[in-house]
Amino acid sequence: MLALLYVDLDRFKVVNDLLGHGAGDALLATAARRLEECVGLEGEVARFGADEFLALVEDPHAVAGIEELAARITETFTRPFTMSGEEFSITASVGVARFPEDAHTAHQLLNNADAAMYEAKRRGRNTWQVFTPALASQLSDRLLIEAHLRRALEFQEFRLVYQPQIDLRDGRLVGAEALLRWHNRQLGELSPNRFVSHAENSGDIVRIGAWVIREACRQLRAWRDAGLDVPRIAVNVSYRQFLSEFLAETVEATLREFSLPGEALELEVTERVLIEDAPDTFDTFAALKLLGVSITIDDFGEGYSALNYLRRLPIDGLKISHSFMQGVPGNPSDAAICQAIIRIAQSLGLLVIAEGVEGENQRRFLIEHGARMAQGYLFSRPLSPKALADFARHSGIGPLPH
Ligand code: C2E
Ligand code: MG
Ligand code: MG
Repeated sequence: MLALLYVDLDRFKVVNDLLGHGAGDALLATAARRLEECVGLEGEVARFGADEFLALVEDPHAVAGIEELAARITETFTRPFTMSGEEFSITASVGVARFPEDAHTAHQLLNNADAAMYEAKRRGRNTWQVFTPALASQLSDRLLIEAHLRRALEFQEFRLVYQPQIDLRDGRLVGAEALLRWHNRQLGELSPNRFVSHAENSGDIVRIGAWVIREACRQLRAWRDAGLDVPRIAVNVSYRQFLSEFLAETVEATLREFSLPGEALELEVTERVLIEDAPDTFDTFAALKLLGVSITIDDFGEGYSALNYLRRLPIDGLKISHSFMQGVPGNPSDAAICQAIIRIAQSLGLLVIAEGVEGENQRRFLIEHGARMAQGYLFSRPLSPKALADFARHSGIGPLPH
């Protein structure tokens, strides 16, 4: 009987970027020693890839349960590392697969430990996960999606739909959020919730995201050329695009290509951008700001909210997630969170927009508490470019009934 532990350091790239490769190497060596201490004589430790290690344990029962070992390994990384006099911490995610329960070949064992590790990352890192059959089907799902994603741009499988954003006081169209849609011949229609995280992991989101920015700007140009008043287009940007260095350049070139002012574009980013804390995140924000592009925090409050970034970064707006809107006005804590977000925005002079507004009572709640903009099924589902044009022609005819 064997157990394979797949250990992957979390956010190792940040160490390399911030402290240099020498420090990165030293950290890997220390990490390896800690792993060896944990595993002891019960098994063997090897480096597998950049920041990945494997531990192969024979007769896992001897180590008082493999789960205990996995827990010990994650634990050992929570002790801070010291590097040229400075202390910092890094965490690890661990996946476990056992032979023969979970796999019959070495290759399978490795894949399944990897799938379990991936799941540990997905659950927020700094944790461990034992392989389960449900993970196996997720893994094949993921591999299939990743394989098709790689060529989806080339085969023109993406399109954008646009959800109207409304001024609550008079029903006028203030903008539209571009939402990505993927149709693959074999997989059918996939929602971004099923593929964006895979595209982020593989890095494909950088190319796909650049396409989204370009396509949204092209569409806005076309609407304007047709005499339609669509004041602004909002585009979702992944944290990976911020790590890729070229975001501001891509945006600038695209705006220029379609002769659009920066004010025509809004970027929605999640708080994930802020924790990844790439060294040049701040510069990218500043460069975008200079272009006149506005930046909104999407799903505000769902993430990791160290609120001080609101002071540090040039942010223009907060977006209330539909997960909070859902409970409004019935659920007191959801209502309180929405109110608090509106208040934070007001006191910092930020715009606030609510998403996922489905009911009249939600609309009334927002107006009562001073939110001015919203999007959601109450006003419209995401629309094709043509349907949005129709919507724009007929919007803002008069104040909505109270
Ligand atoms: P998000 O940016 O928070 O977008 C809002 C999601 O809520 C959209 O789902 C939208 O269709 C849905 N929605 C809109 N109105 C309502 C409503 O009244 N009720 C409910 N229950 N839902 C509503 P969608 O299009 O499936 O997108 C899901 C997520 O995928 C987005 O969440 C966004 O984070 C991501 N995404 C979409 N397009 C892109 C993209 O081009 N790039 C990146 N990086 N992410 C994208
Ligand atoms: Mg969004
Ligand atoms: Mg959202």
